[in-house]
Amino acid sequence: MNSIYNYTKEDLENYFKEIGESKFRAGQVFDWLYIKRVESFDEMTNLKKDLIKYLNQNFSMERLKLVKKQSDVDVNKYLFELYDGNKIEAVLMRHDYGNSLCVSSQVGCNMGCRFCESGRLKKLRNLSAFELVLQILAVEEDINERVSHVVLMGIGEPFDNYDNVMKFINIINDPKGINIGIRHITVSTCGIVPKIREFTKEKTGVNLAISLHAPTNDIRNKIMPINKAYKIEDIINSVKEYIKVTNRRVTFEYILLKDVNDTEECAKKLVSLLKGLNCYVNLIPYNETSHIEYKTSLKVTINKFYDILKESNINVTIRREFGSKVSAACGQLRSEQTLLKGKIK
Ligand code: SAH
Repeated sequence: MNSIYNYTKEDLENYFKEIGESKFRAGQVFDWLYIKRVESFDEMTNLKKDLIKYLNQNFSMERLKLVKKQSDVDVNKYLFELYDGNKIEAVLMRHDYGNSLCVSSQVGCNMGCRFCESGRLKKLRNLSAFELVLQILAVEEDINERVSHVVLMGIGEPFDNYDNVMKFINIINDPKGINIGIRHITVSTCGIVPKIREFTKEKTGVNLAISLHAPTNDIRNKIMPINKAYKIEDIINSVKEYIKVTNRRVTFEYILLKDVNDTEECAKKLVSLLKGLNCYVNLIPYNETSHIEYKTSLKVTINKFYDILKESNINVTIRREFGSKVSAACGQLRSEQTLLKGKIK
């Protein structure tokens, strides 16, 4: 599938040059795709007939198929079908500051985090950049409003699909296209250290979030198999480097799992781990799912954990829960339809 939505403006410029056209065509095509939002090359009326014919022969403009949409207060969950029949989900959250879309980056996920529903389906494949772009277009067209923020926190591990994710970011950040501000884009990773280092070097300005979820390797090993490959110290070192090079603040996500990582001792260990780092901790009350035995921490425990961090001057918030009624909350994304096709642990 050679989707036109898989091309950055620069890719298109090079492409047009190669076929003996002016690179100026790239801007025109971008305008039709992302500003005027036409759905066929035939509508690109400022292009010559032969070029339209050529584009029709060489590229696809196929969109995602919306299979199902579920809504709750301030949240829509979308189930999309890809061209090969696989299905993915995206979640729109309406905040006071704008519309934030949580996109999926893979069909399934190989990271195997024990608490995560999305990870029960092994990775079937990476999404291409265009399949990420099309999630945004589909949602914008559904709500008839702009998506202002994008978080790569849906199904999949974005740093296990690095090149496509970076290309996607390039496409949606283009001021002549969807124009989502670089600081309004957040990539979340379970801690693939070599990719954190690569990402640091690129100095994109994209926000980085790390799914930490434990203050010690002992605990982290039990809940996140990836920790056997990249230890907490390695993550922290790569994050320090990131902060030094980019001068940006990093977000640490920390799910509170009852009696696993929510004790006062854990909070204190987390403080000593993060003390002095330019970071922000997002405490996530665990969203229980029917297939996984972990439990949500008690409210008093969550508040105590929060207080310990706060009193030690760590920037911390407790994440507001979104969409748990429609199973659209963190870690709840999956689709029965998808699961039929994959292997379930
Ligand atoms: N693979 C990336 C992107 C997924 S982000 C990553 O790990 O960062 C999804 C976030 O939701 C992660 O922080 C993940 O750990 C968290 N999460 C997973 N299951 C959850 C659950 N049941 N309740 C709350 N948060 C969950």
